[in-house]
Amino acid sequence: MQKNNVIEENLFIGGLSTKGHSGNRSVINSPFDNQPLASVISADENDVRNAVAAASEAFRGNSPWRKLSSRNRCEVLLRLSALIRKHAEDLARLESTNVGKPLREARDEVQLAADCFQYYAGVTDKVGGQTIPGAAGGLNMTFREPIGVCVLIVPWNFPIAITSWKTAPALAMGNTIVVKPASQTPLTALRLAKLGVEAGIPPGVLNVVTGPGSLVGDALVRHPLVRKISFTGSTEVGSSIMKLAADDIKRVTLELGGKSANIIFSDADPSRAVDSALWSALGNAGQDCCSRSRLLVQKTIYKRFLEDLKDKLRQIRIGDPLEEKTELGPLVTSSQRERVSEYVKIGRDEGATLVCGGDVPTRREFAAGWFMNPALFADVEPNMRIAQEEIFGPVITAIPFETEEEAVEIANNSTYGLSGSVWTNDIGRALRVVRAVQTGVISVNSGHSVHLEAPFGGFKRSGMGRELGLAVLDHYTEWKSVYINMG
Ligand code: NDP
Repeated sequence: MQKNNVIEENLFIGGLSTKGHSGNRSVINSPFDNQPLASVISADENDVRNAVAAASEAFRGNSPWRKLSSRNRCEVLLRLSALIRKHAEDLARLESTNVGKPLREARDEVQLAADCFQYYAGVTDKVGGQTIPGAAGGLNMTFREPIGVCVLIVPWNFPIAITSWKTAPALAMGNTIVVKPASQTPLTALRLAKLGVEAGIPPGVLNVVTGPGSLVGDALVRHPLVRKISFTGSTEVGSSIMKLAADDIKRVTLELGGKSANIIFSDADPSRAVDSALWSALGNAGQDCCSRSRLLVQKTIYKRFLEDLKDKLRQIRIGDPLEEKTELGPLVTSSQRERVSEYVKIGRDEGATLVCGGDVPTRREFAAGWFMNPALFADVEPNMRIAQEEIFGPVITAIPFETEEEAVEIANNSTYGLSGSVWTNDIGRALRVVRAVQTGVISVNSGHSVHLEAPFGGFKRSGMGRELGLAVLDHYTEWKSVYINMG
């Protein structure tokens, strides 16, 4: 891995890089070799107040941001998209180094970030209100008004992608924002804020505050001037945010955990299904809320399918995230690896068969990082903890099924409902299954969940509200209804 000097970053408030009130710093170590990578500010409550005050000021009726025409807002967002593309390789390397994800995955996510700003730039001057015929002698018309100061709380697994898919629609609809990145992975959000200034985003519109979620995140959620919280992360924190938001009736969007099913019927194309079973569970080292970690395979092909999967699993190239050939990098932190290792132990204790992996690679160059060999469990019972709880690491749990009804029943035997796939060449069956599975996103003969143009979000304990597509715009606007008496 390229050895850089330690990156020093500050908070970003009111259009300026600032050391903040306390100036306290914390060091982020690289997941690859545990060496210091960056030093960032650990903000306090005063910094939170300053960031919200800056966002609130930038939202006032006569502010440069509010006075900007929708066409000009579109131009600003297009410039930001172009700047992300211009700096794409640097951003991808930064993300790869910070998160430990393979460079090829980081490049795709930076591309998605740029696409997000371009897509939502396009809606600024196209999405508006309605004119509705009312009772005789009257007319109703509606406006979409921005909500105000929005707090965007971002996790560590896809930092630049998730920051962008929250930021772009929030700004497109005229809000101002405070971003709270995850403590381990704030670097690309801070770069994005600086590019925002270059693109012409006025001071105070886009602020970034770093520091522990339990302090900074909590203070942001409680702040009375904050009108909306969009959170991606664990179901536990999401639930506590929802409770806190209730006091002021703040708007809340939650994108939480998942335990998605990948249902493989015996008539599916075997080689495509095996490849997808692998990467739709192990992409980003399985640290993905959409990870299809519950692999449901029809009994007639179960044995053969798992043999093929095991062969492929053993060929995965684990290594330095910045190497072009690397397919699987380290986990993000030592504590995440500990959590996943604990689940491997739980699976064995529950009586599932560990087919391969689940241990730490022995090669010397991996010794200092948070690497883990991807694990495949067979003979998993649907009610085992490893089939019910979100592991968030490179672990696949394979469950056999006999009939379509049984597959749907197992898929729905979960408190989550975020993502999933069905593999079959029978169109009727594919449609029956996608309608029957209780999930926010599901794909047929594909392992992809996130499509910029389509709504993304979960059923049940996987969250509420939607991100992406045009559906997200409702979550960053208030409808204002006007009645005009024409009498
Ligand atoms: P968290 O939910 O704790 O963290 C997600 C984000 O919320 C981070 O920015 C975090 O900040 C912030 N945060 C933490 N506590 C609070 C709080 N009280 N108020 C406001 N914001 C807060 O997830 P973890 O990182 O601890 O991961 C734990 C598990 O959660 C994972 O193993 C996985 O199962 C799930 N998860 C799901 C994700 C998804 O994509 N849906 C993403 C990440 C995790 P900070 O980093 O400073 O703590």
